[in-house]
Amino acid sequence: MLTQFLSRFDSVASLGTRIDYSMAHRKVGVFWFTNDLRLHDQPALKQAASIVDELLCVYVLNHQWLTSSVPFTSQVSLHRHRFLNETLIDLDTGLQKLGQRLVVVTGDPRYELGRIIEYTSADFFYRSSSVGWDENSLWSDLQSNYPSCAFSSIDSHTLYSRQQLPFTISDMPLSFSKFRKVIEKENCSKPIEPIGGLPPGPTNGFTSASNGTELSETKYISNSQFKGGESQGLKHLNVLFQSNQVATYKEVRNSLDGWRNSCKLSPWLANGSLSVREVIAQLNHHEKTVISNEPTYWLYFELLWREFFQLYAVKNGSKIFSFRGLKPQGPLTSFYPERFKKWVEGSTPYPIVNACMNELRETGYLSNRGRQIVASCLVNELAIDWRYGADYFEKTLIDYDVASNWGNWQYLAGVGADTRAKRHFNLAKQTQQFDPNQTYINKWATACTNPDLDSTDAADWPIAGCEEASCSDLT
Ligand code: FAD
Repeated sequence: MLTQFLSRFDSVASLGTRIDYSMAHRKVGVFWFTNDLRLHDQPALKQAASIVDELLCVYVLNHQWLTSSVPFTSQVSLHRHRFLNETLIDLDTGLQKLGQRLVVVTGDPRYELGRIIEYTSADFFYRSSSVGWDENSLWSDLQSNYPSCAFSSIDSHTLYSRQQLPFTISDMPLSFSKFRKVIEKENCSKPIEPIGGLPPGPTNGFTSASNGTELSETKYISNSQFKGGESQGLKHLNVLFQSNQVATYKEVRNSLDGWRNSCKLSPWLANGSLSVREVIAQLNHHEKTVISNEPTYWLYFELLWREFFQLYAVKNGSKIFSFRGLKPQGPLTSFYPERFKKWVEGSTPYPIVNACMNELRETGYLSNRGRQIVASCLVNELAIDWRYGADYFEKTLIDYDVASNWGNWQYLAGVGADTRAKRHFNLAKQTQQFDPNQTYINKWATACTNPDLDSTDAADWPIAGCEEASCSDLT
């Protein structure tokens, strides 16, 4: 289990004694890594490095991700685990080159971070800004609980910092098209210069809590093309531009399948092992030196969707998780356990949906087209509350991002940023258009496609000897 080899914090912390800083006060800082698991374009870490004398670099592995007694309530998929695990190992390797180590703590972030602040007597606490409502409530609580510690949070997960926006968050345009027209006129933030070095770990023993050998162990064998970590993300970005794949990006991006059809940057962008500002910097360079055309613009266009949902999450806070979203009422849906199970297992009456759900379950990734199809099916054909779908995606996707996931689900369910009432994809037409030869369906087919949406219990059958009756007699 990931916990076993990532966390030795408890034993080390309990052995240590608090340092008396009164003699020669050295400024102690904690850097909390969240969805910014990288060292390039890392302004918050750079700021920490310029201010403190001792620095603890910490990542809190939320214990709810690892254990749960109730299925579908909190465990994240092995794919997400694996990708995160690889990312943390890579980050630790990068930190070692700068004279630091990553301390990984498993537990409840609220409790663990408080404990760390107290234990280290931290004067400064840093993180990159987050758009997540839960993450920001936790941040506010820490600030109130530890008033003697200086808290600092810097934007780096988005293309534009809050100060650069041509509108306030509360005045942000509600539709994507209006948002795009306004924001496109602005220049994106540029990635910052690399960090030259980092202060050493705190002298009270925290740095030794993370053991590189243990971190590098992994139990998950995967043939996924998505390998976690900053170095892999940067490598993938290089390949993307070197192969000139972006020159045809717009025409093929909507496909259901194919590694090269869309940019496949989302897993690294989601956990921040790749900076979105670095992506745009390389895109701009490519446009200047190789080609600038509509397909290359389209990558920026898609990244604006990401930007839109990030700001949408900031603006709407906990409403992004609400059934009614921004609308006065929610869709006419409910929860049907059997239908939901069939959706998750890929055994609905719809082969295209089953193929997508099988790919998602087997790999932790699904194309944008596939996500739209299965989301529409859950809400419209299966009449299930969209939040069950969003929650399943959250646990399963290796590119899970709170803003992109919940924002897109709301959009599809017709309770979010879309001006239309809802998006209902015609499954037959989608199959015809995106998988005319059923290549994708056959690739991910399973034997369990079920012709019925709901099973019928014999006890519910209205007439004895009904096997004689035809369907039309019974309706
Ligand atoms: P491309 O299609 O090549 O797009 C390039 C980049 O633009 C992506 O990497 C992503 O960062 C951004 N992007 C493109 N479309 C969107 C979009 N609709 N919303 C937000 N960003 C976008 N994306 C996530 O990163 N995390 C999620 O948790 C997530 N959940 C989704 C849930 C649903 C129901 C739907 C319909 C979409 C979701 N998306 C999510 C958006 C999109 O499907 C993925 O970003 C995309 O499929 C990732 O593949 P790619 O990197 O090849 O992207």
